[in-house]
Amino acid sequence: MSEENLICSFCQKSRKDVTKMIVGAGKVSICNECIKLCNEILAEDTSKVSKEKLVQGGHGLLNPVDVKDHLDKFVIGQDYAKTVLSVAVTNHYKRIISPPADLEIEKSNVLVLGPSGSGKTFMARTIAKYLNVPFAIADATTLTESGYVGEDVENVVQKLFANAEGDIELAQKGIIFIDEIDKICRKSEGTSITRDVSGEGVQQGLLKIVEGTECRVPPHGGRKHPDQAMVTIDTRNILFIVGGAFNDLERQIKSKNSAGIGFGQKLTGDDDSENHLAQVEPEDLIKFGLIPEFVGRFSAVTHVNSLTELQLVQILTKPQNALLKQYQYMFGLDNIKLSMTQGAKLEIAKRAKELKTNARGLKNILDKLLLPYQFDAQEMYNKGVIELKINENVITKGEDPELIFKNNRKENEKLQQKQRKQ
Ligand code: ADP
Repeated sequence: MSEENLICSFCQKSRKDVTKMIVGAGKVSICNECIKLCNEILAEDTSKVSKEKLVQGGHGLLNPVDVKDHLDKFVIGQDYAKTVLSVAVTNHYKRIISPPADLEIEKSNVLVLGPSGSGKTFMARTIAKYLNVPFAIADATTLTESGYVGEDVENVVQKLFANAEGDIELAQKGIIFIDEIDKICRKSEGTSITRDVSGEGVQQGLLKIVEGTECRVPPHGGRKHPDQAMVTIDTRNILFIVGGAFNDLERQIKSKNSAGIGFGQKLTGDDDSENHLAQVEPEDLIKFGLIPEFVGRFSAVTHVNSLTELQLVQILTKPQNALLKQYQYMFGLDNIKLSMTQGAKLEIAKRAKELKTNARGLKNILDKLLLPYQFDAQEMYNKGVIELKINENVITKGEDPELIFKNNRKENEKLQQKQRKQ
């Protein structure tokens, strides 16, 4: 049969009506549109199966070892936090999937202490993605008590519902991450006489949701208004992971000079020797300004460490979606190979360490460094550049990267100097 006479065996469209037709053995053909549709059906099925596993009890997914193994592919270091999170998350979903008939297992939400940019949000997000449950992030500093100007604590649940694409059942089993929880601590240990909008009141508001309540949220987002039909979301089975830097708490524990073995005790070989947050006890958190009821709801407490230079180097290259791999992919789209010497990686890590922003600093440094070359990528390729090599002098002395040309010429051509130096 000539090519123009081919007909898709699935949708019966002819060759001239589609972009591509693939011919199989015998007389079957399939067009590009049907291939796309088949792929979508398969992807939908895979996601449905994993949702069903979680909801109905496919215990294959619910092994903390598997959760931790998955985290290890993406998160460098933070071994203790990864272990605590894996167990807490597994217990949480086991409890939902197989509830006991004659006793009530309390929900164990997780509190992660430690410096920003070191993986707290990332771990929570990675777990949610692995379990295929909806995930929402909120910043505690933007939350206010109901009735005050600012973001109502119930909006957090609304976000989760939106991320569950309106699936109430799924939203009720989602994960909410609230960052900067240390910023809503009571200012002093005594009970406040006036209402403390930014602190205790928000904790009380969050407590209700964390304990389990029925939140009424507008189905299509936006602000609540009277007369609007609302959707009710039960928060009993939503897992809350909260995080914060708790800088002063570290100082507080250090000065307490306790060698206590609390629930922050070490399990694995992470370098916790300098991290006093590893010895935190519930009373330290209460003294710091979290209300006792709130602390009581977070029975799993763990910490992350500041990332070492070596770990920052690893973050650049090792994880499944490492930063450098992402940039390499983008340059690859313009047919340019991006390479970086070990010395350059180390210098970038050193800079990030100086910035004290942990892994977040890496992205800022790379963005700034590579922006002009991303801007010029197509033009560089048109001029014959096939590789962009970054060595440590590019980082330390501001030199231009080495450009490798198609015909093996090695030059430091002054391409678009003007733009690059800006
Ligand atoms: P925070 O501790 O403030 O919640 P994040 O988890 O948001 O920090 O980290 C910011 C980004 O840095 C993440 O999205 C991730 O790309 C990267 N990152 C942070 N820590 C790690 C880590 N331990 N391993 C791999 N990447 C990390």
